[in-house]
Amino acid sequence: MLKLIKFSSATLLLLIVIILINTLTHNPSRDDNLKKIVINFDEVRAINNLSDSIKFKTISGQNRSQESLEEFESFIQWLKKSYQLVAANTSLQRLNDTLLFKWEGSNLNLKPILVTGHYDVVPVIPGTEESWDEPPYSGKVDSEYVWGRGALDDKSGVIGILEAVTHLIESGFKPVRTIYLSFGHDEEIGGVNGAAEVAKYLAEEGIQLEWSLDEGSFLLEGFIPGVDKYVAAINVAEKGSVTLQVVGKATGGHSSMPTRSSAVGHLSKALVALDENRMPGGLEGLSLAMFDEISKHMPFVYKMAFANRWIFGGIVDSYLSRVPATNAMLRTTTAPTMLSASVKTNVLPIEAIALVNFRIHPQNSVEDVFTHVRGLVENENVEVRALSYAGRPASQVSSWESEGYKVIESSVKEIFGDVIVAPGLMIAGSDTRHYGKVADNSYRFNPFPLSNKELAGFHGTNEKIRKKDFLDGIRAYIRIIEKGSST
Ligand SMILES: [Zn+2]
Repeated sequence: MLKLIKFSSATLLLLIVIILINTLTHNPSRDDNLKKIVINFDEVRAINNLSDSIKFKTISGQNRSQESLEEFESFIQWLKKSYQLVAANTSLQRLNDTLLFKWEGSNLNLKPILVTGHYDVVPVIPGTEESWDEPPYSGKVDSEYVWGRGALDDKSGVIGILEAVTHLIESGFKPVRTIYLSFGHDEEIGGVNGAAEVAKYLAEEGIQLEWSLDEGSFLLEGFIPGVDKYVAAINVAEKGSVTLQVVGKATGGHSSMPTRSSAVGHLSKALVALDENRMPGGLEGLSLAMFDEISKHMPFVYKMAFANRWIFGGIVDSYLSRVPATNAMLRTTTAPTMLSASVKTNVLPIEAIALVNFRIHPQNSVEDVFTHVRGLVENENVEVRALSYAGRPASQVSSWESEGYKVIESSVKEIFGDVIVAPGLMIAGSDTRHYGKVADNSYRFNPFPLSNKELAGFHGTNEKIRKKDFLDGIRAYIRIIEKGSST
């Protein structure tokens, strides 16, 4: 007995020692070669150009009116006039209202890179104009912010890239690797006449890109509990999407004499089954790489759990699965969104229908979603149907070991100092679903710091960007473009 107690105590002690060693060695890798870099450029011009760009109502609605066509044309003319140095040093291909600049490098054997953004914006929701502290298309500049629709999404990206290239040309920089700059006009409605045309054009020209950088995540503040550093998630993939119809079926009839078997009842059971059986997911591949890096900066208890997933893995998975934002990183999500059944209060429906939207994780295919749903709910009373639109698979997962990724990562650290950089997964869509077809690796990231409060302006009310953050973002673009096209 004593032997057994001694043995158990020794085992326990050993376990604690292993857990502690793992925790204490779970630290971010120090990159001592990276010093913060100071870049001086014309800040007043950059701010004024962002402000002016916001004044054009380049709104992507479902129908383009004559008025908006003119706004797009005026914006294009304004851009060419404001960035004459860029225009003079590049060749321009116009694909509908999307602009593709080519800045040729000295070594044509190297695969080109692409840096891109979009200048169309989402509409201001009618009736909310009055809630804005500054009019949405004023481009108002105050002591702290530049205000208006597009300040974050994504005129800051477009103007940021153009200012960065202007600065590089002014300082005599010449690219070795060819660099393309693309400014899309219809990203907010799918990019089919813009980015898709650019991808088609590049493919026809036989051009395969080494890597591309499009809008994506920002440097986010307050992203992790207990960590006050900015998190820069360089998105290396984006989720897909598919919507399925789940249909409960019955014979119908008059509501005064309902049958025990009802369409709504069958549908309800199916939805409960879907709710209780999420698609499997967890920490592996990309999500593991992301959370593993971030966890190195977390408070001790979290760090201990992540560093010892061999013992705490289950707890970590269920913790991350409880929070909607982190759950979406781990799995294909299930969201019933629209319901319909009878058209009259006294008529039993023959069919009760739910539309269920799934956001597809790169680890799953559209087919996997069908299989999961059918396996769970399909029977003689419940049918699963596809909508005419087949859905969109998740993107390829780009490498976070590539030169392109390292260029973006090191540039961010050079400008912003002690921030957490990790590969990430984009939950929304971007034009890169098109550009990705002609690039070995595709990244989605805006190098602008953003607080939770400012994030609310994204597609919402009071969209604005802090002047300092915008200017630092330009510095990051300068380094990304400079380093990315130097070798
Ligand atoms: Zn955008």
